[in-house]
Amino acid sequence: MSNVEDFLSAQEEQKIVQAIQKAERNTSGEIRVHLERTSSIEHYNRALEVFQMLKMFNTKEQNAVLIYIAVDDHKFVIYGDEGINNVVPENFWESTKNVMQTHFKQGKFKEGIVAGVLTAGEELKAHFPWTSDDVDELPNEVSKG
Ligand code: CA
Ligand code: CA
Repeated sequence: MSNVEDFLSAQEEQKIVQAIQKAERNTSGEIRVHLERTSSIEHYNRALEVFQMLKMFNTKEQNAVLIYIAVDDHKFVIYGDEGINNVVPENFWESTKNVMQTHFKQGKFKEGIVAGVLTAGEELKAHFPWTSDDVDELPNEVSKG
């Protein structure tokens, strides 16, 4: 049996946390990463469930985004809150998805997540720029299910 922990060393996990911190210096949006082995329900629906479980709707501008990854299923979902969806084009997460997929295909798991987080931050910047009174509304750590 493999654990989610086996996919990332403590050091790699720290790199992801640093990427989230860096990305959030570009945008008021909040980025979280959730990893689990597998989901028994459709991955998009599971991502929504996790989004709610992590109380990610709890941002002033409803601009949190969850990068959800089911490791054993080789699936990931990028789920943005309403405040984001209302103002961005439908293919908004395409480049983030592509950059992650490219890394994952090469077996570069940590690099893919880091690149995804940073790209998401860059993309969000245009719609939700960082301001000097920004609050870190959601924790930057990686959550695991
Ligand atoms: Ca913030
Ligand atoms: Ca945060």
